[in-house]
Amino acid sequence: MSDLAIDVYTCQAFELPGGGWFSPTTSTLITGPTEAILVDTQFLATDVDEVIEQIEDSGKRLTTIFITHGHFDHYFGLERLLNRFPQARAVAVPAVAKAIAANLDSDRAYVRDFFAGQALDNAVAPEPLDSLVLTVDGTEVLAIEIEQADTSPTGIIHIPTLQAVIAGDVVYNGVNPMLAMTNRNDWPNWIASVDYLASLNPTTVVAGHKRPELDDPADCIDETRDYLQEFVANVDGLENARELVAHMQSRFPDHANPSTLVVSAVTAFKQKKKKKNNA
Ligand SMILES: [Zn+2]
Repeated sequence: MSDLAIDVYTCQAFELPGGGWFSPTTSTLITGPTEAILVDTQFLATDVDEVIEQIEDSGKRLTTIFITHGHFDHYFGLERLLNRFPQARAVAVPAVAKAIAANLDSDRAYVRDFFAGQALDNAVAPEPLDSLVLTVDGTEVLAIEIEQADTSPTGIIHIPTLQAVIAGDVVYNGVNPMLAMTNRNDWPNWIASVDYLASLNPTTVVAGHKRPELDDPADCIDETRDYLQEFVANVDGLENARELVAHMQSRFPDHANPSTLVVSAVTAFKQKKKKKNNA
């Protein structure tokens, strides 16, 4: 029995000003009898305000905001949250904290452009954790550095007493994963990270992106492995991005946000062509 609980907030998909959609993104509140840790922050003001309300409604003291990885959708709500909860400490595993500090200015410029001013600006980076063991009212919550997800480096949270993992973008749940920020050399390492998550034997897995109506079952681990393996094999086996999109859609018909699949497929075939030309 654990005296901890988790409560997941998932935003709706967002139509991008330049076309396509941004996948629904999760943030997770871990609560104990008196304290709370938030994992990932959202990036639109309305969603961050929902998370603020969720924390206030919990009646717990927010001690920590843990950022899984350095993509704006997971950390751009940080400044707004810290304004409301100044006592909370914003943290990440050391490699992620370093990456965010290094990329903060370029991330701000990118988000301004990509969202045409509709997303939050954020000038705050998380601090590197000195110990990867966090606590909520004395119960251990473990931060783990992971080599590869949809980006590298990344971090996850493992809560042994709940058999729960908050997985950042190592796994996706009912949503097409973003493969356009990695390449064929990264994909086996990403699959290895998925296997590592499975080795923790969780019963609850919160994916960084999921269809809002879904729960957080551990099946999303197998589903993500399956998806990644299928994608990788068919980049090799098929002729072009259009064929890959059609194949993945027939194989995973319920996966939300086909615009992510299109971007992933087009990028993968560009990389494949480049590799051929260099050979
Ligand atoms: Zn993400």
